[in-house]
Amino acid sequence: MEQRRSGGLERFDVIIIGLGAMGSAAACHLARRGQRVLGLDRFAPPHALGSSHGQTRIIREAYHEHPAYVPLVQRAYELWSELERQTGRTLYRKTGGLMIGNPGGPVVDGAKRSAKEHSLAHEVLSAAEVRNRFPALQPADGMVAVWEPRAGILFPEICIDAHLTIARMQSADLRGDEPALSWVDEGDDVKVITSKGAYQAGQLVLTAGSWNPSLLQGFKLPLAVERQVQFWFEPKHPVHFQPERCPIHIWEHESGRFFYGFPDLGEGVKVARHHEGEIANPNSIRREVLPEDVEAMRRVVRRFLPDADGPMRSAVVCMYTNTPDSHFFIDRHPAQPQVLIASPCSGHGFKFSSVIGEVLADLVSEKRTRFDLSLFRNRFHG
Ligand SMILES: Cc1cc2nc3c(=O)[nH]c(=O)nc-3n(C[C@H](O)[C@H](O)[C@H](O)COP(=O)(O)OP(=O)(O)OC[C@H]3O[C@@H](n4cnc5c(N)ncnc54)[C@H](O)[C@@H]3O)c2cc1C
Repeated sequence: MEQRRSGGLERFDVIIIGLGAMGSAAACHLARRGQRVLGLDRFAPPHALGSSHGQTRIIREAYHEHPAYVPLVQRAYELWSELERQTGRTLYRKTGGLMIGNPGGPVVDGAKRSAKEHSLAHEVLSAAEVRNRFPALQPADGMVAVWEPRAGILFPEICIDAHLTIARMQSADLRGDEPALSWVDEGDDVKVITSKGAYQAGQLVLTAGSWNPSLLQGFKLPLAVERQVQFWFEPKHPVHFQPERCPIHIWEHESGRFFYGFPDLGEGVKVARHHEGEIANPNSIRREVLPEDVEAMRRVVRRFLPDADGPMRSAVVCMYTNTPDSHFFIDRHPAQPQVLIASPCSGHGFKFSSVIGEVLADLVSEKRTRFDLSLFRNRFHG
């Protein structure tokens, strides 16, 4: 699409910095609405250097973090199926899901609360019932589980590629290997300076994941980047880990300590601890996996998934970008209202990326959205 020029610079309606999970979805929704979109990424997405790689992500509905996420995830499910129809690609696989822990803990009680508040299909199972129905999973006596039938797996690299494909088909100008270095407020416009040039737009969307803090220009959001390792182990009893017999599972295995896992989709049994990683800088994070990373993971696997304790097939480092309360941050820059900041992570954002793309498109093109974002508004006053 021919772009207008302003003062010698290419001019767009909106520039998106970061084309990972959130930026690719925003580009797709904005381009569909006829906005002239420039999308920039420091690498060539989908890539394995941010927060959206590792082949699988959990999607679930009985949201233990807060019932306010349920309407968003319900819309996300609709948008993922729409994207599947449009691209002819498989983005989601239903497995059902188990939230496991001690009664009264945040995972179990939170899932029950969301299920009740939103009348979602669910069952509460004892530890023995879990062990009988899903022999891969060995919760201790006294633990309980909330079963939800609609949970499953998204394929993140394919999802991002699908959003980027539709965005390009709708004439979005998407450029990889072009990091944005800074942006400048120019009255009604914003100028973005990159490694290759400068561009102008009416609005700017910051979806740079773990690099968002470096682009906030004076606004101090308390975002912390955390190193996380994803592992794939060879199962000792492969039949127990087939997707028909092994749903996705999230555990509070000790008070305040969490891990999660997937069935074996052919690459081995994927597991990871949730949090407990070191605080990192995205430009210098330790990408190699250390023996102590493997040992910490195996300790949990041996106890609760003993049949997954075979040889390690692979492991990869990824990044969470955490807010202090683990809820997303989606709001305008306090000093620059034409700049929208989206940091929907804290380790649980991927499933929402389809709907976050829609929400960002609403905010850019209509200045409002039908979704309740009150949990995600600026509450830090940095
Ligand atoms: C190990 C792990 C497991 C997870 N499991 C789940 C799960 O099961 N379910 C779930 O829902 N969520 C999960 N999450 C969270 C989810 O993956 C993230 O919330 C989500 O991927 C964040 O997307 P994003 O778009 O913010 O970041 P990213 O996808 O990382 O995108 C940011 C993009 O910005 C680009 N960028 C950075 N700086 C610049 C710049 N200056 N100029 C241009 N481009 C730039 C980067 O290259 C990158 O492509 C998990 C995360 C991790 C790390």
